[in-house]
Amino acid sequence: MGGKSYLIRKRRCRICGSRDVEVFLRSYNLTLCRKDFISFFKKRVEEGIRFFRMFSRDDKVVVGISGGKDSLAVLDVLHELGYDVEAVFIDLGIHNVSEKAREVVEKFCEERGIILTLIELERGFGLRMDEIAKRLNRGESACSICGVIKRYYLNKFCIEKDAVLVTGHTLWDEAAVLLGNLVQWKIEYLVRQDAVLPKEEGFVRKVKPLIFVGEKETAVYCYFRGIDVFEEVCPLSKGATSRVYKRNILSLEREFPGMIIRFVKGFYKNKKRGMIFGREAIDNVAKEVSLCQRCGYPTIAAGLCKVCRLKERLGRDGKGSCCE
Ligand code: SF4
Ligand code: ZN
Repeated sequence: MGGKSYLIRKRRCRICGSRDVEVFLRSYNLTLCRKDFISFFKKRVEEGIRFFRMFSRDDKVVVGISGGKDSLAVLDVLHELGYDVEAVFIDLGIHNVSEKAREVVEKFCEERGIILTLIELERGFGLRMDEIAKRLNRGESACSICGVIKRYYLNKFCIEKDAVLVTGHTLWDEAAVLLGNLVQWKIEYLVRQDAVLPKEEGFVRKVKPLIFVGEKETAVYCYFRGIDVFEEVCPLSKGATSRVYKRNILSLEREFPGMIIRFVKGFYKNKKRGMIFGREAIDNVAKEVSLCQRCGYPTIAAGLCKVCRLKERLGRDGKGSCCE
């Protein structure tokens, strides 16, 4: 095969043969036209749902959306595939950010006829996230506290709806978390790390359908589908360690294309086969869950859950409803 014919072949869409190629996916060595990229993307999402048996068409599915490309892409795909899906947005009250993100999600859902529920943190918790961030102790990361708060309200909302909670975590997020857990040997976290967290004792079923899809792909998908996304960086994200792991995992991907998908798939395949953790490791992380004495939310620590402890520390009683 001569160099010229190779170049011509490379310029054709691998699926339909058209010369109208718009995407080259280096990790898969795949060139695609716009139409076939969109089907490829949807298939990857469906593959994740099937591989992990995340949910079926009989389930009510709620997608937690932030206005960013990942959560809007997964919501769009599930809606397109005909799942019984609705959306929830937590207005964190981050100055100059949350208002704009809220406008984006409202427009997105309105255009598609998707039911959207808004949860205002200030109403439920008594403080906005930027106020909470100011009151944290030195060295405490706003993102980890924000994560706890978001999980709490999303879980509560989905329990009321008896729904499966979908998040927009992607392959890259999963790889970054896996790398972080491995380099610090957080065995407990590694045992728990999964694309599906089962429904149990006050916790809803949580799933990540973008487990086999990278962020570059979600960006291209949103662009091709004409989805307006909220792109501003959250001012509270400075110093988040997850960003460091993500940067490093991406530099490995640049050196070894396809590495991220092999890393994450390999982890889950071997975990499924029982090749990574023995019974002892699994039993060791099984902790007894009790209910928070104030709000009834399940908690591993005795007494109050993390959110009620945080409210107490910040001097808020947190009474009142946060859903509109
Ligand atoms: Fe919350 Fe951090 Fe995300 Fe900002 S970047 S919304 S603080 S998790
Ligand atoms: Zn509580």
